[in-house]
Amino acid sequence: MKTRTHLEALPAYTPIEPFEVLSARIGREPAQIVKLDANENPYGPLPVVREALGKMEFLHIYPDPESRALRKSLAAFTGIGAEYLLAGSGADELIDLLMRVFLEPGDCILSCPPTFGMYPFDAELNAARCIEVSRNADFSLDIKSIREAVMTYKPKLFFITSPNNPDGSVISPEIMDELLSLPVLVVLDEAYIEFAGENLGASLSRIREVPTRENLIVLRTFSKWAGLAGLRIGCGAFPLWLMSTLWKSKQPYNVNVAASVAAQVSLEHTNELAEVVELLKNERTRLFAALQTIPYLKPYPTQSNFILCQVTGRDAAELKSRLAQEHGVFIRYFNKHGLRDHIRISVGRPEDTDVLIEALKSL
Ligand code: PMP
Repeated sequence: MKTRTHLEALPAYTPIEPFEVLSARIGREPAQIVKLDANENPYGPLPVVREALGKMEFLHIYPDPESRALRKSLAAFTGIGAEYLLAGSGADELIDLLMRVFLEPGDCILSCPPTFGMYPFDAELNAARCIEVSRNADFSLDIKSIREAVMTYKPKLFFITSPNNPDGSVISPEIMDELLSLPVLVVLDEAYIEFAGENLGASLSRIREVPTRENLIVLRTFSKWAGLAGLRIGCGAFPLWLMSTLWKSKQPYNVNVAASVAAQVSLEHTNELAEVVELLKNERTRLFAALQTIPYLKPYPTQSNFILCQVTGRDAAELKSRLAQEHGVFIRYFNKHGLRDHIRISVGRPEDTDVLIEALKSL
């Protein structure tokens, strides 16, 4: 018995550990944990969403394979027709779906690290390679090298993230236009766009251009701004020429009924969600200022719901583990190429900031 050969060399993806596991490991109640490691929204779903979930009637019936009601709401929210939209079990599912639809063994995708780790992971899962053009030291894009890589390797897909995870920088409209002029299918991951610019990201998102461009895909998620990470719901906007293949290739019941209801009710209450996002943006400003007062941290400007910091003059790994063990505060630690000695802190509630800053000062 043997699994596919290329999977033998595939490094395991290390996801964030669940609440109960973290809590048991450090011997603290879940309520005593300050979880700032996965860019979740600490306010969770709106109360109306919780109420709607409690009243769901048809849990014994399979969901609509075409997510019709949700796609109608998404069309109104995004301003593009439902025929361009596909819902998924998180943006993660749509990233994987794209790879499965496009990649033959030996093909490649293009990505610009430091960025979201699922792009190379999913590419390798599909027996493809990920060509990486590193970002500059300030996390801006190296356009010349991107252009060369597109010409040389002819990647099937170019994954680009704005705001980028883990630094939170946004790609300017001019640079985005340059990327879109390249002969490659661009997958623009806007998982955090609602925290950037005004109006839940509407001023910056490029999703409205999908119908008029042949080479633009935009991914969005409800995990962050709408607080639905645990329910797994995201969506993508795709050029029409691709839609029939995506419909054929996806799992029939990929979006569960609870996720679908939660997303729809969220979309009926975008004003309330905008208030939550505003709270987080204000807290981001306060957290940033507080981090600047910690002598061993250098926070980077961000337009997302997290702040990347360089750790100087002390061991970043030890800092992460002492924050967890001694204070119940969980943050993300990076020690990879281009991100040595960096930590990423999600923006939480004011009380989370207070605990974190107190802990950082005491360590
Ligand atoms: N894209 C980026 C850049 C992310 O950071 C994440 C989540 N960490 C995702 C996509 C996946 O989002 P979802 O929860 O919708 O699968």
